[in-house]
This record gives sequence, structure tokens and C-alpha cells, in this order.
Amino acid sequence: MICLGIEGTAHTAGVGIVDGEGKVLANIIKMIGGEVKGIHPREAANHHVKNLPGMIDKALEEAGIAPEDLDLIAFSQGPGLGPCLRTAATAARATALSIGIPIVGVNHCVAHLEIGRVVTECEDPVLLYASGGNTQIIAFAGGRYRVFGETLDIGIGNLLDKFGREMGFEFPSGPEIEKLAKKGNELLDLPYSVKGMDVAFSGVLTAALQLRKKGASIEELCFSIQENCFGMLVEVTERAMAHVEKEEVLLGGGVVQNRRLQEMVEIMSKERGAKMFVPPGRLCVDNGAMIAWTGVLMHRNGVHFNIEDTKVNQRFRTDDVDVVWRR
Ligand code: AMP
Ligand code: MG
Repeated sequence: MICLGIEGTAHTAGVGIVDGEGKVLANIIKMIGGEVKGIHPREAANHHVKNLPGMIDKALEEAGIAPEDLDLIAFSQGPGLGPCLRTAATAARATALSIGIPIVGVNHCVAHLEIGRVVTECEDPVLLYASGGNTQIIAFAGGRYRVFGETLDIGIGNLLDKFGREMGFEFPSGPEIEKLAKKGNELLDLPYSVKGMDVAFSGVLTAALQLRKKGASIEELCFSIQENCFGMLVEVTERAMAHVEKEEVLLGGGVVQNRRLQEMVEIMSKERGAKMFVPPGRLCVDNGAMIAWTGVLMHRNGVHFNIEDTKVNQRFRTDDVDVVWRR
């Protein structure tokens, strides 16, 4: 079975192709970037409109297959920005209808978890999903992927990108912040907002910008934002692991490419006798391969969509997905 997956929830257009074992045959990724000042939903959608057709051709070429070799089309049905989601869904519908093959809509957050499971070969992890728009701690419990903790306001990546924008960095700003943080060592006073199992980041942004106005160095601020916010994430991840009694932690989302975050999660998991799993970077960020693989799991377990079922769902909740493939 060969599936082509189309990702387009927010800033990234992705087209991936996987086979029935989860082997990635192609994974083309195009993120809006550089000069843009954050994500404007309509402009991001225009970016996807412009890029997706060529990316589909390129993915087929990279996989060395013809359109007729495809058995299934999967697309990111939500959660995400309406205009972006509708663009990806339209590309998916057009492709599926023109070849005459089935189509399935995939939950983006679940896809991050499933690609991680297949490529790292972990079994039943707690996922720390830290990306631009999303920050969630997810684990399988009672037949569904449950969200044990999440951000109450903005995603961790969004905090980094917004702070970076104010500092004049390019979008996305995570890598630049990681680089500068290495030069800092004084922990500045930022709000540590853990509320039960949830976290909040917008207060950190406000406080950091105020400190900058008062003359704090950018390096110290980058260092402090990372130590403070990653500490919050590690705390709630550990609590979720203890609660659901799982001994694996999987990382997903673009922010987990950060070495300092990986190091902190690794220390925590070692101390608990647990194991950390990190997929390759191109499978951590938003990508089409993760959508394709989750599509395979769904299709193989009897999930079938009519074209009317392919409407996008901006608020598609992780725990709304009936995880038939893990029954
Ligand atoms: P995603 O939304 O999952 O595609 O990931 C994109 C987000 O990852 C953006 O907010 C980036 O700023 C962030 N990101 C990328 N690389 C790093 C890094 N090395 N450290 C922290 N954040 C990063
Ligand atoms: Mg994502």
C-alpha cells in the first residue's frame, strides 16, 4: 500500500509518501519564512496554493512512482488555520478524485505521535508535542489519545517566534534563540506558569519584552526563556508519565529539535528509568509523511471517507479521534 499525505495546517506545506510499513519514500517540506512577519492565514494559504501542485509532482518523482501507483490520499483535516486547511484539503480531493482512489482526513496532532512511533519504534509513549501553534502532552488511555496537559494560550514555538520577531530575527526564530541562549548563563526572572497540568506562555513573552526594554541582554533573555519554559514542559511531561505509568517519552513538533530541550527531557527520563525517543528533524516538524502514515493506519483499519466527510475542522481535538488501529 502506498499513501500520499498532504500537510497544510499552518505555516508549512508538506507532501509525503509512505509505504505500508511506514517507510518514508518522499517528504517534501516548504515553510513560509525569511522575511515574513509571522503567519497571516490567507498569505500562508496562498503559499500552499502556489507550492502544493509542484510539491506533489516532486514527491512522486523522489519516490520513483507514478500517480497510478498510489493507493490512498491522506490530508491534515485539523486542527489549524481555516484557509490553510481548506487549501490542503482541496489539493487532496483533486488528487484523489483525478486518480480515483480513496481519501482520508487525519488529525494533525495524532499524526505527530504516529510517525514518531513507527520511526523510533517506541510502543506506548507519552508525547511531548511542542510546535509553533500547539503545545500538548498526549498519551493513549482508554482507547483514545488523551491530552493530559496543554498550553492555555499560545504554543511554545509561537512564543519563540514572537519574541524573535521583536528582536528582529527571521521567522522561524527558534534556531537563532537556541544559538544565542548558549551565550547566556544568568537566569532572569520570568513567570513560571504551570497550572495543574497546563502551561501558559504569553506572560513570559510580555515579561521578556519588558526586561529587554529595561536593558537585559538578548543572550540572557534567550537563555532564560529556554530554561524557564522548557522546565515547565518537562515538569508537566514528567507528571503525565507518572500519572499514566508510561516509561517512554516521545518528542514531536519543531521545537523539540532544540538540543537543550532534548537534554532536559533526557535527564528527566533517565532519573525515572524511562526512555526518550526523538524522530529525525524532518519528521518532527509539520510534514506530509506523518499524515500519509496515519492515513495508512486508518484506512487499513476500516476508516473510509466520502467526499462529504472531507470538510476541514479547525478545532479538531486530539481526543475526538477514534483510534481504531490500536484496539
Ligand atoms: P512546527 O510548528 O512543528 O512545524 O515547528 C515550527 C516551530 O519550531 C517554530 O515555532 C520554530 O521557531 C520552532 N523551532 C525550530 N527549530 C527550533 C529550535 N532549534 N529551537 C526551538 N524552536 C525551534
Ligand atoms: Mg505540528
